[in-house]
Amino acid sequence: MQPHSGTSANQIVIGSLLSPGARIMGLGLNSGGHLSHGSPVSLIGQWFEAIEYHVGEDNWLDYDEVRRLALQTRPDLIVAGASAYPRSIDFARFRAIADEVGAYLLADISHISGLVVAGEHQSPIDHTHFTTTSTYKQLYGPRGGLILMGKDHEQLSSDGRTTLSQRLQKATFPFFQSTPSLNTIAAKARALGMVATPSFKLLARRVVEDAQALACELKARGYDVLTGGTDNHMVLLNIASSGLTGTVAERALEECGIVVNKNRIPGDTRSALVTSGLRLGSNGVAARGMYIEEMGICAELIDRVLSSVQQTDERHYTLDEHVKADVSACVHELCAQFTISGYAG
Ligand SMILES: *Cc1c(COP(=O)(O)O)cnc(C)c1O
Repeated sequence: MQPHSGTSANQIVIGSLLSPGARIMGLGLNSGGHLSHGSPVSLIGQWFEAIEYHVGEDNWLDYDEVRRLALQTRPDLIVAGASAYPRSIDFARFRAIADEVGAYLLADISHISGLVVAGEHQSPIDHTHFTTTSTYKQLYGPRGGLILMGKDHEQLSSDGRTTLSQRLQKATFPFFQSTPSLNTIAAKARALGMVATPSFKLLARRVVEDAQALACELKARGYDVLTGGTDNHMVLLNIASSGLTGTVAERALEECGIVVNKNRIPGDTRSALVTSGLRLGSNGVAARGMYIEEMGICAELIDRVLSSVQQTDERHYTLDEHVKADVSACVHELCAQFTISGYAG
């Protein structure tokens, strides 16, 4: 099915299956979940009763805890997926929990769909009732979304007449969407054609290796890498451990041409506009063809900026002009050497 975005994909799935007030259980925002998984500031959170599960003390998903909470709260649907979680997700384990409590399982692989396509991450397709993804992140495609179904597509839905796939089709049109966005569908087809090529498999491997190398290099420079590393393209830092807020670190790096995200992290006491964390991703650098050696350079440049930032309050700082000029020039040079040219083979 062809939803207009990842968010609307989740709204279509949840809205087609459940009545307002039903219970959904998703990963909390601070633990890396997405707004559309039940946050009170989003439509899903307003219309449904949202229950949050969280990562454990060690910042890894704690499946025993997810199961305990599911047994206690009996959700109608469980969402497995994240926007800021650096480790693999065990969809089979989630399905066992969903079956035990009689819930539908929705996997949202917006962030890791490229790794799933390339076999670098367990596929949720046959483990879940539904899988959703954005198409502009790791599929390197247009702004848009997809809803996918595996072996449960012909299962009857709760009305006892329509199958899950029929139900979803009706929810997509006419319930949620009107005219299909044909230009976007064409662009999605092109993106999916590209991710089916052998060179994309190589890129996906490089995405993971780059992120792991970056995590390693940052750790070696004293940064607090959540979970100690990564299985995917994401590296999450507790930047408060380095004496900075997420927003200060994000802005200082961006001034020097390095684009990262501030991000709330488990136990974060700062607002979403300030945050204590930083989220780095390797999709972009890997697509440019940068590899292990360049990750050492990237970590060095990041460290040069962050170690010279003087934070004056939660949102303000000063940065030495020489450091800024120097790092910006290095970033420029590195990017000129590794240009954007489709998937560098
Ligand atoms: C980005 C993201 C979405 C939203 O996708 P949009 O296409 O931007 O609406 C949904 N879920 C997760 C986990 C995401 O990371």
